[in-house]
Amino acid sequence: MTAPAQAELLATACRLGRDKFLARAPAYDREGRFPTENYADLRDAGFLGLVIPARYGGLGVDYKGYMEISAELGRWCGATALTFNMHCATMLWSSQMADDLEMAGEQRALHESRRAGIYRKVIEDGAIFAQPFSEPNSAAAAGRAPFGTTARKVKGGWLVNGRKHFASLAGAADFYGVLCTEAKENGEADVKDTIYLAVDGVSEGFTISGEWDVLGMRATSSNNLGLVDVFVPDEHQLMPRGGYYQAARNWPHMFMTLCPTYMGIAQAAFDFTCQYLRGEVEGGPPAGSARHSPAKQLAVAEMRIKLEQARALFQCAIAEAGVNPAKDTRLRAYAAQYTVMEFANDICRLALRTCGGRAIFRNLRLEQLYRDSRCGALMLPWTPEICMERLGWESLFEAGES
Ligand SMILES: Cc1cc2nc3c(=O)[nH]c(=O)nc-3n(C[C@H](O)[C@H](O)[C@H](O)COP(=O)(O)OP(=O)(O)OC[C@H]3O[C@@H](n4cnc5c(N)ncnc54)[C@H](O)[C@@H]3O)c2cc1C
Repeated sequence: MTAPAQAELLATACRLGRDKFLARAPAYDREGRFPTENYADLRDAGFLGLVIPARYGGLGVDYKGYMEISAELGRWCGATALTFNMHCATMLWSSQMADDLEMAGEQRALHESRRAGIYRKVIEDGAIFAQPFSEPNSAAAAGRAPFGTTARKVKGGWLVNGRKHFASLAGAADFYGVLCTEAKENGEADVKDTIYLAVDGVSEGFTISGEWDVLGMRATSSNNLGLVDVFVPDEHQLMPRGGYYQAARNWPHMFMTLCPTYMGIAQAAFDFTCQYLRGEVEGGPPAGSARHSPAKQLAVAEMRIKLEQARALFQCAIAEAGVNPAKDTRLRAYAAQYTVMEFANDICRLALRTCGGRAIFRNLRLEQLYRDSRCGALMLPWTPEICMERLGWESLFEAGES
């Protein structure tokens, strides 16, 4: 993609966010309602095909370009950016990342024909894909155990059984990219046998349950999924056998795609604070002596420094993302993820403290940014704790050492 084309798409994301998403966000949040209207706008702009390669009719944006656009969407509506990521990540894993994986010629040809069918559903029918991998036993989503959801090979497809929780886009998606473990005759479960299947939301045996009434990211509809003998045809296999396992090991930046949502939230909190102290926020107090206060100025400076640190690391990490990264590149990705998720919440904390008591009212945006920002550190598989663990371990041990 050329730089001007990428700049145009970034401008579209900004226009959609500023002119449409921003005004809708409070009602979505208050009512805990999925941002359906925002998705209609994204669809009209061709964004459902944002990362689908141009030869399939998509916009052909690459990983780095996507991460920048996602951050722009997150600046205006965190829930839209976070859920839209599930759709885009599903498309990225099966396209640009799959292209970088080792596959036998026959396997690649089969994947090519299957993904062409998947992308047609998006481009021609406007289908939306969710990406539920989390399960009540969090070790699987953390990459430490096989998924408990199983897929048993049957004629023409797979029979899927299990449970997923936190499935963002539940009820709004047409398909659910479910990670499961191939069920073997001997009953053994192995992470290498992870299968990635697109479950049709109208399949028999597929149910959505639970009430998504939560602290932050209230508009993501991240409900529970139940799968009882759900049939998934072979054509709905999103990656070839072993593909996910290989990608998780060799394309680690695949797990960083939730970062930009929170990068956008951090930027929004900083912008809000400056506008608030300048008396420019509608519903906020007029400009007064506050911005002359050295204490406020220092706090704004601290926010800016954290924002710049997070953005610098984020930009660096997304620019060097790719298959089989060098050790330093991989460690930097963990550091970037940690920094963005932790700093986003910290910048929101500083914003509330700096703007003061009149900024906690629900008619202003800041308290929602604060609540939404808290969710970044909860996202597996790269929570801040897991990033710290990996940073420490991988700094001190080389592959194969114990
Ligand atoms: C708004 C929102 C939207 C979400 N959307 C999706 C989605 O669309 N798809 C999806 O798959 N998931 C989604 N998730 C789920 C998310 O990725 C996590 O799986 C979930 O938050 C984990 O919750 P838990 O109660 O199981 O926490 P736990 O897993 O108990 O986590 C608590 C903490 O323990 C640590 N921890 C957990 N397991 C390990 C481990 N094995 N090793 C070391 N430390 C560990 C982590 O640091 C974590 O912060 C969403 C979550 C939120 C908050």
